[in-house]
Amino acid sequence: MIKRIEDYREIVGDEVIHEIFKKAIKFAHKHVVHINSTYQGGGVAEILTSLVALMNDVGIFAGWRVLHGSPDFFAITKKFHNALQGDQINLTAMKKEIYQEQNEYFSRFTHLNHDLVIVHDPQPLPMIRFYRKRQPWVWRCHVDLSNPNPELWDYLKRFILRYDMVVVSHENYKKKDLPVAQRVVYPSIDPLSAKNKPLDKNTIKKYLNKFGIPNGKPIITQISRFDKWKDPEGVLKVFELVKKEVDCRLVLCGNLATDDPEGRKIFERIAQKARNMNDVILILEENNILVNALQSSAAVVLQKSLREGFGLTVTEALWKGRPVVASNVGGIPLQIIDGRTGFLVDPGDIEGCARKVVQLLKDPELGRMLGENGRAHVRENFLVTRSLLDYLDIMSELLC
Ligand code: UDP
Repeated sequence: MIKRIEDYREIVGDEVIHEIFKKAIKFAHKHVVHINSTYQGGGVAEILTSLVALMNDVGIFAGWRVLHGSPDFFAITKKFHNALQGDQINLTAMKKEIYQEQNEYFSRFTHLNHDLVIVHDPQPLPMIRFYRKRQPWVWRCHVDLSNPNPELWDYLKRFILRYDMVVVSHENYKKKDLPVAQRVVYPSIDPLSAKNKPLDKNTIKKYLNKFGIPNGKPIITQISRFDKWKDPEGVLKVFELVKKEVDCRLVLCGNLATDDPEGRKIFERIAQKARNMNDVILILEENNILVNALQSSAAVVLQKSLREGFGLTVTEALWKGRPVVASNVGGIPLQIIDGRTGFLVDPGDIEGCARKVVQLLKDPELGRMLGENGRAHVRENFLVTRSLLDYLDIMSELLC
């Protein structure tokens, strides 16, 4: 069922709903368009699915366009993504040409006469060059920008400088060398989506069963795209250590995003490694209820990322009141206050991570306490209603 903003009253309270209506009235009938590069897989698609619908519900004409990329293009933009998070890159003229050309091509059949254009992430960033600009443009970057490859950053800046505002997910991602206005908007989850709404025990059982997950042992899970920054190999190592102390099962669940060509290769490598391990289940599926069932029933949720823009999977697990052990990187420490809403571990510390998981498996009461605090923290800071308010503030700044 399509959700209405007032459906969130019970979760966020009447004041928040009233504030949204009060702020939104100024923008009734304004046209806003979001542009990104995939409609499914990954956090950006997840956010837009709810945010765009709610923007429409409060009277804004909000649209969502998805850039049409070729496999070549996505191979290059994935390299850009990795290099923005600190990897090396061989930035050839050919890569730049394909990157810009695909954007120019897409702009030919994407007419933008909106009042505000919001471009998500680096893939559609150059589009701005191919329009006679007649409205504010926002670059909403979801990637950790704290330590980008300097050559790539310098190249991308030539496009970013044309924008009216850059929005990032963390205060630390703001760039000193950028004269463009910069704001922080935390990503968010939709508490009423299939992925996050409460599930009854039977549905959880049915879904675990359907995907070949037996019951009887506590489940540790990490749910993430198969991506090197999510460190699935590290998860296997942590599990090996945990398993020596407590009999449990690991479920590594991942999907493939259409704009991420590396996923399948990484999945195959992990499958090869997991072949000789007991009680490791790998799932390569796009299924929101399965993700919900896993997050709702896990004894411990892991997020062993090496880099992380924000980490919506952490938000989702906290919202379900589950104990989370996650790396102290990117946006994760905004969500996990160590010892209060979960446990933070050093990304390279396999043993330390395993120790925390074992501690939680042996002490469910501790897990319950962390989970309760985590849920309250998400309610306060990381729900879609809060993001909507932030975007309304940005619209006030740019359109009034
Ligand atoms: N996700 C999913 N199925 C999977 C793996 C991930 O639906 O098998 C979802 C996950 O629940 C979350 C999003 O993809 O909503 C991932 O967002 P996150 O910010 O954690 O990471 P990103 O993929 O954007 O780096």
